[in-house]
Formats: sequence, structure tokens, C-alpha cells
Amino acid sequence: MSTLTARLPQGVRLPATLQPDDALDLIKALAEHYGCAHLLITPDEVEDHLTINRNAARGQQRRRLTAEEWTRLYGTDAWRKLAAAAHAVTTRTVLTAIRQAALECVRCATPLTGPPTATWGHCPACLIGADIDDLRRRPCPAAGADTPHRWGTDTCDHCGIPAANPPAIAARRLTALPAAA
Ligand SMILES: [Zn+2]
Ligand SMILES: [Zn+2]
Repeated sequence: MSTLTARLPQGVRLPATLQPDDALDLIKALAEHYGCAHLLITPDEVEDHLTINRNAARGQQRRRLTAEEWTRLYGTDAWRKLAAAAHAVTTRTVLTAIRQAALECVRCATPLTGPPTATWGHCPACLIGADIDDLRRRPCPAAGADTPHRWGTDTCDHCGIPAANPPAIAARRLTALPAAA
């Protein structure tokens, strides 16, 4: 424990009695609390892949890894390459998440600081040149997913983009703004 304690933030102390299972639960709980995606491959996951466990009948005793078996497993070449293999998938997924969160312009990757309801996923320069029908066909920038707009009567309920007859609706919105102010 002393080595682990030395790496903890100042003031953080883990109980000396912390068991490996509790430590893994702690990691999962912290990651979920702070919104960090986590892929934690524990002895449990490895045991799930053992043939005898995959074929086990309900109620049949599960083969558990001993501490020595677990140490032997995570010392293998395949295990050491796991993080690199996962990294390639992670990079693609993170880039998709950045787009779905509308953090960057979908056309030129300029950083977007406003919410997707204000930017529609575009920087001001690209939004000026954007075709309204193209914006309607694209995934909704405020949905947080690659899903179409959710059309209400006049606009998308998520992002507010006009549903149809944009000049009339745009005119109504423009005239409504000064009245509201
Ligand atoms: Zn742009
Ligand atoms: Zn939308």
C-alpha cells in the first residue's frame, strides 16, 4: 500500500485494508461519477472467457483465477498489447464523440464555444455558407448522437433549426426577438 499511497493526491488516503475487488469497484465508481469512459478488464472479465465458464451450466461452480494465474496472465505479450489495440478504437470513438458534442465545426474543425442550439455544429463562417436543406439532412447537432432532427411543428425540438418554409419561420423568429427584448 505504501507505494500506491505515495502516488495519491495530497490528502487522499486509502484504507490499508482495501481489497482488490473493492479497489476495482472504487475505480469504476470514480470514473462514472466524473463521466470518464472506462474499460476495466479485471479477473472477472478474463474468467468470463475461460472455456469452462462459458460452457458452465447455471449454478455450476465458476473457475476463479488465483492470484498467481492473474499475475501470469497480465504478464503475457497479448495483455501488454491490449492497451495499444484498444487505443486505435478509442481514438475513432473520441473523435465521433467530439463531433456529436458539437465541440468543433463539422466543416473546418474550428473550436465551437457556444452550445449546439446556437452553433448548429458550425462556426459562424461556415454557417453563413451552409445550405439550410443540408443542415436539415445532417444529424441533429444537439441530439448528442448521429440521429435525425426531432421535428416539431416549426422547428427541431432539440436544436431549433426551422423545419420547413425557412423564410417565413425565420421572419417570425426575427420579428419575435425584438418584441421579447
Ligand atoms: Zn467552420
Ligand atoms: Zn435538431
